[in-house]
Amino acid sequence: MSGEEYRDLVICNSCLWAASLLRGSHGFQTCPICANLVLDTIPVSDYEAYTLEIRNKNVEIEFKKEK
Ligand SMILES: [Zn+2]
Repeated sequence: MSGEEYRDLVICNSCLWAASLLRGSHGFQTCPICANLVLDTIPVSDYEAYTLEIRNKNVEIEFKKEK
């Protein structure tokens, strides 16, 4: 392990629950909120920050690369 921070963003398409995971963490098999089995995982390796907006059941993610 490089020690470099590496985050994955996990989003539930059903209830729009979202969380960021550290690389190598256990992760989620199902949504902890609604038990949906289909979770999207978005790697966020090169990005320091992102904003998540939920509008009318659409999830918009804006990635911001710092520096
Ligand atoms: Zn859910």
